[in-house]
Amino acid sequence: MTSVVTIPAAIPRAAEAKVSPTSASARREELRINEIFFSLQGESSRVGLPTVFVRLTGCPLRCGYCDTAHAFHEGKTRIMADVLADVAQHKTKYVCVTGGEPLAQKNCLTLLSRLCDAGYSVSLETSGAIDIAEVDARVSRIMDIKTPGSQESEKNRWENLARLTMNDEIKFVITSEFDYTWSKALLAEKSLDKICPVLFSPAFAEVSPAQLAEWILRDELPVRMQIQLHKVIWGEKRGV
Ligand code: SF4
Repeated sequence: MTSVVTIPAAIPRAAEAKVSPTSASARREELRINEIFFSLQGESSRVGLPTVFVRLTGCPLRCGYCDTAHAFHEGKTRIMADVLADVAQHKTKYVCVTGGEPLAQKNCLTLLSRLCDAGYSVSLETSGAIDIAEVDARVSRIMDIKTPGSQESEKNRWENLARLTMNDEIKFVITSEFDYTWSKALLAEKSLDKICPVLFSPAFAEVSPAQLAEWILRDELPVRMQIQLHKVIWGEKRGV
């Protein structure tokens, strides 16, 4: 599946109205884009839905299990109108803005609002390390809580928890039994499932799905277990 797309004739009205390719505002509305591709959503409550993914370049974290290291630096600078036009090439109403850490680019906030204005159902995958306060309230934020096994748990921005609503989701990636126990304790201590749906996901090739399922059922946790559907289907192939 390719991430290389061309600009279609139809540009969403919100983008068309605000962007002239040569204007100063266009320069301010630049985004560094790693890839844009159409695939099945592999995670969250939206799993299985045909979705356009907009992957932004850059991330200030370095999780041990990261499977998108190619997004740390690779990418092209694009103007927002072109990004919106690429998204509009597909018929789905679902768009996922991901990374890297998309919120590391300030213009991501504008992109998210423009996508909502254009009528899309928008989700944002974020590390939990950057303030989510300014994210458009129409966006469903899929926010990580970094476990100790990620080697980035000190970056968790705990004040983000107070900003989440039932439209959002919290995700733990579990790399070991220690991570599981740590996550379970945090779930109880902060009543996370009362804030929004909670996802427990086994780190690929570190904890087996069967093992994590066994722990969750043993402890009767109020969480949704997920596996990365796209990896079940396509393995570690990029752009799917
Ligand atoms: S936050 Fe996401 S993109 Fe960044 S290093 Fe961690 S797993 Fe990779």
